[in-house]
Amino acid sequence: MSDRATRVLVLNSGSSSVKYQLLDMRDSSRLASGLVEHIGEPDGAADHDAALKTVADELKRDGLGLDSEELAAIGHRVVHGGLTFTEPTLIDDTVLAEIESLVPLAPLHNPANLTGIRTARSLRPDLPQVAVFDTAFHTTMPESAARYAIDVETADAHRIRRYGFHGTSHAYVSRKSAELLGREPSEVNIIVLHLGNGASASAVAGGRCVDTSMGLTPLEGLVMGTRSGDIDPAVVFHLGRVAGMSLDEVDELLNKKSGLTGLCGANDMREILRRRDEGDGAARLAFEIYIHRLKKYIGAYIAVLGRVDALVFTAGVGENAAPVREAAVAGLEGLGLAVDAERNAVRSGLPRVISPDGARVTVAVVPTDEELEIAQQTYRLIDEDRKNSKNSKNSKTGTTGATGAA
Ligand code: AMP
Repeated sequence: MSDRATRVLVLNSGSSSVKYQLLDMRDSSRLASGLVEHIGEPDGAADHDAALKTVADELKRDGLGLDSEELAAIGHRVVHGGLTFTEPTLIDDTVLAEIESLVPLAPLHNPANLTGIRTARSLRPDLPQVAVFDTAFHTTMPESAARYAIDVETADAHRIRRYGFHGTSHAYVSRKSAELLGREPSEVNIIVLHLGNGASASAVAGGRCVDTSMGLTPLEGLVMGTRSGDIDPAVVFHLGRVAGMSLDEVDELLNKKSGLTGLCGANDMREILRRRDEGDGAARLAFEIYIHRLKKYIGAYIAVLGRVDALVFTAGVGENAAPVREAAVAGLEGLGLAVDAERNAVRSGLPRVISPDGARVTVAVVPTDEELEIAQQTYRLIDEDRKNSKNSKNSKTGTTGATGAA
């Protein structure tokens, strides 16, 4: 890698797709992006190896080949970092083995992430590769928020606790929100509502996550596109004992056939809003249940934080669905929350305030950008590494660098 290399390739290797973006960190511009889908299906790439080779070919076609001297690093999204990984981490064999040991906690995601890393390393063994974990931002949660009230020995033996997900998005959006408020992240308390197909809320105090709605897996918390979110765990026993369902069937029911899909047959908020407006009762009820749960989390996180400076909406639904934002905040004036109808109706890709002037709590929309956050975290890490190795070289030759002088 050249010392002047400023490009970062971000890879998000999912179970059946690989998403990529190539960014230039001098100005955070996007040089290329794409998606290879249907991995393992007849109409798609045979496996992750083949998918990544397609990514490499697409980049090459655009004159941005993986062999470029300008490429500084590859940043990988890794879903589960357990309690081990609290920060972006330079990947070596030990780190790979650690990620592997977390597979039981994320059996669908971590294996795909690992395959992506291994293939990328084989394509460019000389290049730094960095893992950025979806759980990392939440590792600051206090034990009171992270522990389930179950037998401690059982919990510890099986690493059962609340990890939280979407951390890259919550980190990025909470920092951007502080910027929007014109304050330092350390000075403000923020509730972030990441409402996409998957959805999660987080309470961020002074830049650190103190609670989040997803738990051991992304199933806990808000009503989502196809996931139930919070549910009495006894529903699982009941379905087993009374309905004769297997654990795998219940898993599938709660993860894939519940949430908005289970309630009204659609997981796309646009369709639900349209059907609701046409008088469809199931769509109306699905919307009301979705909003009711959201409100409960807003109230809970106001209580967790004690004082809230901003309530921020992000991701596909949060950024685009004005009726969801309006309904989520309706009736919460007593808690200092309100939305200005005109501001809420504005469509924009920029961070924006939607509460009225002088409101006690700023309500805002802040578009998320997980790829940019992964690229920035990756670049910061390798840039520090470059500086450190330069300093240690300087100190060896007697020239004083920052570290050498200390
Ligand atoms: P994400 O997972 O962040 O990509 O969000 C995807 C979801 O955003 C989709 O399933 C839609 O429900 C929702 N979405 C996208 N655009 C709109 C829109 N204009 N209005 C309402 N919902 C939208």
